[in-house]
Amino acid sequence: ASKNQAVEPLGQTFFIFDTVVNVKIYDNRATSKNFEELDALMQEIDGRISRTAEGSEIYQVNANSGVAPVKVSEETYDLVSTALDYAKRTDGRFDPAIGNLVTLWNIGHEGAHVPAVEDIAIAQALCDYTKIDMNADKHEIFLQEKGMAIDLGSIGKGYAADRIYDYLAEQGFNSAIIDLGGNVYAMGKKPNGNLWTIGIQDPDQERGNPIGNIKVEDKTVVTSGIYERFFIEDGQLYQHIINPKTGYPVDNGISSVTIVTNRSTDADALSTTLFVLGIEEGLAFIENTPDTEALFISKDKKLYATSGFKELLTKTNDDYVFAN
Ligand code: ADP
Ligand code: MG
Ligand code: MG
Repeated sequence: ASKNQAVEPLGQTFFIFDTVVNVKIYDNRATSKNFEELDALMQEIDGRISRTAEGSEIYQVNANSGVAPVKVSEETYDLVSTALDYAKRTDGRFDPAIGNLVTLWNIGHEGAHVPAVEDIAIAQALCDYTKIDMNADKHEIFLQEKGMAIDLGSIGKGYAADRIYDYLAEQGFNSAIIDLGGNVYAMGKKPNGNLWTIGIQDPDQERGNPIGNIKVEDKTVVTSGIYERFFIEDGQLYQHIINPKTGYPVDNGISSVTIVTNRSTDADALSTTLFVLGIEEGLAFIENTPDTEALFISKDKKLYATSGFKELLTKTNDDYVFAN
């Protein structure tokens, strides 16, 4: 083959992790076997960390809350440990023990409505990361209170993106787009040596309408927003990120938060974290996080960005203006 031969990407769409996953490999050596292996990898991850899949490790940990520690795989143990690091750094405003509030509010699913105040109080009392015991020697996790539940919805897709990236790297690929419902990992560069162009979704428009784009090489770009998982009751929008301190969905004027960094597990945890922290505290938090940039889009179409993100962003929609 001539060295100028065009590289046609080979891609596949999967429905898993409660979202649409699309992986495109830009390498003529990619085959359908790679996608079979990716499918198996994702099934394996979901079967380990899903809160709702009976028999998953997280399911077992939750089912044994208040009863007994559960031994989990090293990977699951490490993922919960990473989530706990963010919980500690935010004094529990990011909290992987959020399971009861997530189940109660049921946001993004059929029939979601505002729960009774007393039910919110009961669920909230069970959301407390300080009651997760980690035994590093035995790889055991124990939830101290009966009924407590871990939920890794804030970090799981990022983790899966990293695992997909690592698989592709092991297979010798260095150019790919991994997209788990907007949780994107742009591997390497385009085959022609150019940077990848990643759109930043306009929170007020259908998917595919960006406010602008950024050009990146080997970075992950992850967004948490109010626009995909929510319900409206009495004219009020309830989105899916919950403040564990109040028991209610966060309602702080933010439409979305986008993170750009090197590992998707961190980007995913950070997008959720910054959403809860809000603009001012969130930007301060990112100042202390190396190699990481953030962009907030507010409901009144203002942009608040780290200086690095400002440099990256090519704005294509003039309705949105920088406010910092
Ligand atoms: P997406 O689901 O679109 O990827 P996020 O990564 O921000 O969005 O994750 C939101 C999910 O995280 C929720 O659906 C829920 O499962 C969980 N969650 C909600 N609030 C919190 C919180 N304060 N801390 C940790 N996880 C949370
Ligand atoms: Mg996410
Ligand atoms: Mg997240």
